Amino acid sequence: MPRGNMPRQPSRSGRQEGVRGKKLPLPKTLPIRNLRAKALQAGRNARPTRAYNPLAPERVRQVLEGLDRLYPDVTCALTHRSAWELVVATILSAQCTDVRVNMVTPGLFEKYPTVQDFAALEPEQLEPDIRSTGFFRNKSKSVVGAARKIVSDFGGVVPQTMDELLTLPGVARKTANVVLGTWFQKNEGVVVDTHVTRIARRLELTRHDDAPKIEQDLMAIVPRDHWTQFSHQVIWHGRKLCLARGPKCADCGLEKLCHAADKTWSTVEIHKAAKP
Ligand code: SF4
Repeated sequence: MPRGNMPRQPSRSGRQEGVRGKKLPLPKTLPIRNLRAKALQAGRNARPTRAYNPLAPERVRQVLEGLDRLYPDVTCALTHRSAWELVVATILSAQCTDVRVNMVTPGLFEKYPTVQDFAALEPEQLEPDIRSTGFFRNKSKSVVGAARKIVSDFGGVVPQTMDELLTLPGVARKTANVVLGTWFQKNEGVVVDTHVTRIARRLELTRHDDAPKIEQDLMAIVPRDHWTQFSHQVIWHGRKLCLARGPKCADCGLEKLCHAADKTWSTVEIHKAAKP
């Protein structure tokens, strides 16, 4: 056995000798009364946590004010000179851009200037004139059918009530709301088209997909005297900025209020429940 210091072997337990006996320093703790005081102070300083409510009156007001700022003087983009022309243009605008409809209608109304002229047609005669707006067979039937009904039941004058307008072939609430709000200045409902559907959902003003429920949701939160203007503003917003694909969020005046999951640019946290 050699004399002198022997190299120390690792212990079987894995612990180094000498460490076992030493006491590790305990974390510094505050006396209990200090902890209580700190908690009390934190509670006083804490902000009240309120659940995010997209339909809170203050938020809805900000959305409406934002739309007023962005689109102060907008109106219906369909060219028309009478209630009847607006009925025709709105029927033709289904699944078609307003630009395309505005290319078709001037020639159409020159060829058939009155509702009686349309009522005297067979739908097939109208088809070539409106072919470029798409779905031209159904649209021809609707336009001629509406003209005949207006001539036979309403003395050749477009009716001014929702119930009467809904009796016209090819006229549903969307078209009726456009005609009543734009031509007759009657706020009977909110126009719900593809733009309004998309933007109302992005701004969390509705969770629904179908037009009647969306309209009910919007009518509940938008003041009645604003229904028509709101519809025009949202439709313009959908054309200019809040596009279906690739919305221009960096240029959008409503961006700070918007949590849509498909935003292309954001300065606000998008919460988990946000949907496109
Ligand atoms: S921020 Fe984007 S998604 Fe939201 S409303 Fe504006 S354009 Fe539409």
